[in-house]
Amino acid sequence: MNATLRAACIVGWPVAHSRSPLIHNYWLKRYGIAGEYRREAVPPEQFAEFARSLAARGYAGANVTVPHKEAALKLSQPDERARAVGAANTLWLEGGALRSTNTDVEGFLDNLDACAPQWDRGLGKAVVLGAGGAARGVIYSLIGRGVGRITVVNRTRSRAEGLRQRFGDAVHPADWSDESVLADAGLVVNATVLGMAGQPELPLDVRQLPGHAVVAELVYVPLVTPLLRAARGRGLSTADGLGMLMYQAVGGFTLWFGRAPEVTAELRALLEADLTSAAD
Ligand code: NAP
Repeated sequence: MNATLRAACIVGWPVAHSRSPLIHNYWLKRYGIAGEYRREAVPPEQFAEFARSLAARGYAGANVTVPHKEAALKLSQPDERARAVGAANTLWLEGGALRSTNTDVEGFLDNLDACAPQWDRGLGKAVVLGAGGAARGVIYSLIGRGVGRITVVNRTRSRAEGLRQRFGDAVHPADWSDESVLADAGLVVNATVLGMAGQPELPLDVRQLPGHAVVAELVYVPLVTPLLRAARGRGLSTADGLGMLMYQAVGGFTLWFGRAPEVTAELRALLEADLTSAAD
């Protein structure tokens, strides 16, 4: 490898669908940095060896996606947020140590701040749909921003209850059948896979939300999910999954390549074109 070239990668299994290379290679080109960002398809049984040999493979760090986020946490020295969320999506090397963080936290918040400024002003209650890894990042983010009541609705109720144990009394598990949870929600976040291409639609009637509610979507394939379409049709403010994807990439790029990149309209257009052509 060229000694002056810095490299990073996204490691997952599978990983072909990832848009992260488009994002990071766009920034490398934009800032004239001699670097490369690649895809690494690594099966679960080989992940530990891969993570331990990042430096030997010429990498300054990596993004980590399904199914390796929990393993990445265990194999590294996590920061406070990765430990609290229970998953790491970004690895970097620091003085010979393998460190990790979870940039979905700032990705979620920075996107929400950009799309719906002051979304948290006077926010009484948020509703989070889902209780998986992404939901944990969202709940951690909301608690960090002072949201005092977070209703968590999940197909498997016991997982929502587990989040109350993890994050404390701000978390209130509820059931899909309890329609009253939406009536006073200032923010609703879809952190399930529902609405994703190939998955059922999310069974949520946006007419039950108050007129000031903000709707945040984590799914970004398709770009405009049925939830986002319905929310926009009702005139609600929305934040989409593609926005979060772009903002979560900022932290890794900064750590590996030494420059804080900007989320630009040009980057968004590039990703939208890619998502649209993949859907054809
Ligand atoms: P995960 O850990 O597998 O969790 C999946 C969640 O979806 C669980 O709450 C699960 O409920 C629920 N679910 C799955 N199938 C369902 C069904 N048929 N009916 C009702 N609920 C169902 O996945 P994750 O990592 O949290 O990811 C969740 C979503 O966030 C994915 O769409 C992912 O692409 C997206 N995401 C986006 C970004 C971004 O940057 N935009 C970042 C991270 C994640 P159970 O607990 O009952 O199984």
